[in-house]
Amino acid sequence: MTDGAHTAERVTLARLPSGVALTTTVHTYRGAEPGPTLYVQAAQHGREINGTEVLRRFHERLPLESLSGTVIAVPVANPLTFDRVSYTTPEQLDSVHPNMNRIWPGDAEGSLHQRLAARLWEYVTAADAVVDLHTGSPDMLPHVVYREGDERSRGLAAAFGTDLLLAEGAGEDAPDEWHRRGFEGKLRVAAAEAGIPSITPELAHNKQILEDVVETGVTGLLAVCRSLELLPGAVPERDQRIARNHLGQVSADAAGLFRPTPGLAVGDEIAEGEPIGTVYDPTTYDALQEARTERGGLLYALTREATVTAGDQLASVAIPAER
Ligand SMILES: [Zn+2]
Repeated sequence: MTDGAHTAERVTLARLPSGVALTTTVHTYRGAEPGPTLYVQAAQHGREINGTEVLRRFHERLPLESLSGTVIAVPVANPLTFDRVSYTTPEQLDSVHPNMNRIWPGDAEGSLHQRLAARLWEYVTAADAVVDLHTGSPDMLPHVVYREGDERSRGLAAAFGTDLLLAEGAGEDAPDEWHRRGFEGKLRVAAAEAGIPSITPELAHNKQILEDVVETGVTGLLAVCRSLELLPGAVPERDQRIARNHLGQVSADAAGLFRPTPGLAVGDEIAEGEPIGTVYDPTTYDALQEARTERGGLLYALTREATVTAGDQLASVAIPAER
């Protein structure tokens, strides 16, 4: 019996205008015993670097000798946004699709992001499960998003182990806004559509490595490996809240400075119509908007970046769901 093996391969994703090859590193962990394949990636939104750090520590902690099956890990799925510490790519590099997480499964002959995605999609289609690591704003409850009604994806989300799970309706079950914003092009949605259970952990914070966030990610990934029987051991039973990820979040109607309602914090249950803060004109002091939630539920994100422009998201509220 062998001990399993790790290889790291430099893969060309696409070609830049100057002719420089855009490359990234793909890690493959092959167990001594046969088993399923898990594909995990981080930083398709390049400022979301906690997922990248999660994969470095997963690399240190994965007990290769106990692995049955294969894990494929891509710590920097999108070097373009990673280098810019950004969410999207400037139009000089992709004038058609600035957000990589709207174009899966990609197109090998399409725009730059479509080519990146198409190259990585080759690994995705060989997998039995997909984890796409993201991180959100500083003031957000860590959670895992899965496709509503997809039991295998829900199982992965539960195994990952955050206290909050968000079920998102897709396709015909999704509201107009979901289609308008191109959410069918998310990796998680495209993979589920291809019959591969998939989850999007949203760990809190970006741009900074936060120890507790990274630990949540590493233990979550190892638990996902156990749930898939890539690793031995049981996944602990947890008491998790499940909510519906409704779109139509609370957004700014006017540009100005946003002051959240004092005392309001993520994790609070809030009622329909409850004020979540005020947008002020910083020069005249006029209150331009009393922002209120249209629906009651669980406040899971609240912006602390005060300078807002019309359309910016101020808060996110999830509607508690039955198990
Ligand atoms: Zn993201």
